[in-house]
Parts: sequence; structure tokens; C-alpha cells
Amino acid sequence: MKAIRIHEHGNREKLTIDELSIPAIQAEEVLIRVKAAALNHLDIWVRKGIPGISLPLIMGSDAAGVVEKVGSSVQALGKWKQGDEVIIAPIRSCGQCEYCLAGQENLCDAFKLPGEQTDGMQAEYVSVPQRFVFQKPENLDWSQAAAFPLVAMTAYHMLVRKITLKPNQWILVYGATSGVGSIAIQIAKDFGSRVITTVSDTDKAQIASKLGADFIINYKQEPIGKTVKKITGGRGVDIVFEHTGSQTWPDTLRSLRKSGKIVTCGATTGPHVRIDLRAIFIKHQQLIGSTMGTLADLSDILQWIALEKLRPLVDRSFDVKEVQAAHRYLEEGRHKGKVILNF
Ligand SMILES: [Zn+2]
Repeated sequence: MKAIRIHEHGNREKLTIDELSIPAIQAEEVLIRVKAAALNHLDIWVRKGIPGISLPLIMGSDAAGVVEKVGSSVQALGKWKQGDEVIIAPIRSCGQCEYCLAGQENLCDAFKLPGEQTDGMQAEYVSVPQRFVFQKPENLDWSQAAAFPLVAMTAYHMLVRKITLKPNQWILVYGATSGVGSIAIQIAKDFGSRVITTVSDTDKAQIASKLGADFIINYKQEPIGKTVKKITGGRGVDIVFEHTGSQTWPDTLRSLRKSGKIVTCGATTGPHVRIDLRAIFIKHQQLIGSTMGTLADLSDILQWIALEKLRPLVDRSFDVKEVQAAHRYLEEGRHKGKVILNF
């Protein structure tokens, strides 16, 4: 079978399509023939090199596909059979530690992200423990089905588990057409929040408007913090949905009202920021970290998708052979939604 791997870190040329044998499955595993896999920004970080990665590594965290074979315990459970259309949760956890038993898999001591700490999903076949396999939503095509798990779990966990969104609250969501941004806008609108978002051009502004954003700031033309203050009548937003990091940090602080909350899951433009603690305590503000989500989050998200309350934003698909071009497309920030690899 074909699999996209890296043998060393570096530029896009380090991505290779290797011929590997189809993985053997354990009793509690399911063998899945991958139909589509999604790229995440994480793939670029992994390719370039972040700590804790052992090589060679099969790339990618998200995929959707068809069950090809099930292990003996899975067969006994009767849960999955050949031909079932499925998606795969982009997390691996031990299932036994205090966090896992409390349903907090994203805090598991043995937490692994496929495509980072363990082999990923960008291969023709993958073997997956059955508890990380979920039914593919019938109202999504293969590209959409592969597009949402990682970004939706991340955004859902931030806005539903870490923050309690209330109707009419103001929220600033960076990057309307980014994976997490596009999902965050839809979740916030469903809670009745007033959403301000950012884009870099008019095409992206149109998409932001379709997603339901109330106010759209083109950050190439207007300063974000100042514009947010103007929109909110000088008050600022209750919540900043952060995933961009150092570049937007001054705007984040400028946009946040008294007793406001910053919830963050990423640092695309850099991890180091300046905080004046006096401003934080005098204004009663909170900074809340979050990473990935739980299996319960994914179950909830699947219900939202079935009810058409949430729809993944897909930009375009590339053939597996064009994986280097797909990385380039994502890296140059030209994407308006998720970038998919077709298998
Ligand atoms: Zn655990």
C-alpha cells in the first residue's frame, strides 16, 4: 500500500510516497481503507520538526474510509463489519488512567496524536483500535468527512467545555476560513453569540459571511483591536478564540473586555507573547489553554452535523501524488477551508 511518510525533517521534498505492507490488525482493531485524509497545520510543523517525533513517520491525523476487516474482539462485539463507512478520531489514549476513566482523553498521560507521536492516517490502509472509530455522517461526502474531526474537536472543546457561551456575548474568532475558525464561528452562532471574525481578502470575507459571522474585519486594511473596540461600542469582546499566537496577541489584549476570557489552542505565528500581569488582574481577565478534544466531544459533534448545525468547510482536494503541492497550498495560506488528499 502507499503511505505518505517523512524520513527526515525539512522542506516539502522530504514528503515521500512509500510502498509498505498493509498493517496487521490486533483483536480490538479495525482495518480501514482510507478514502480521504485531511491536512492540518500540524502536518507542516511535524514535517519541519517539533520535539517528540520518531522517524520515519506516516503523516496525517484525520481520515475517513471503509472498514476492510475487523479483529476477533471487534467481531464479537458486532460493532463494525466490512463495508461500513467510518471516520477516525484523531486521538489515541490509554483508556485506563484517571483522565481516560473520567472521559478526559485529551489529558491522558499516554496521549498520542496520530501523525505526530504515532503513525498517522495518510496511507491506503490504517489499523485503528475500535473505540476511535465512528460512523461517517451520511450527509457528508468523503472529503468533508475527513475534514472535520481534529478541528471540530478542538473548537468544540474550547467553546463548549472550557467556556460556557451565552447568547449575545461578543466573541472574536481569528481566521474565519481556517479549519478551527470556520467551525468556531458556526458553534458560536448556534449559541447565539455575536461573532467578529478576521479575513485577509474579499473572497474569504464572503465565506465568513456565509458561515454566519456578524462582523468581518479585513486585517490587511483595518487594525483588529481598534476595529473590535469600535464595533462593540468601546466595550470589547467577552471571548477571544485564539489559535494564531504572537502576531495577533496585542490585538487579543486590546480586544478583550473586563472579565473577558482568552481561550487558546495554537500559536501558528509564534508561541512567545508578552503579558502585563497587572492588566490581567486589574481587569479580572482569564487565559485558558486547551488542546484537542474528547471522544464525547466527537459524539456530540456528529449529532450537530446530523442536524445540519455544523458543516465542515472544504476548499480543495489533491491526489495523493500531489502531496507536496497540497502542503505548499496550505503553507502559502491560499486555502479557504480544509485541504484534502484523495486516496
Ligand atoms: Zn489515559
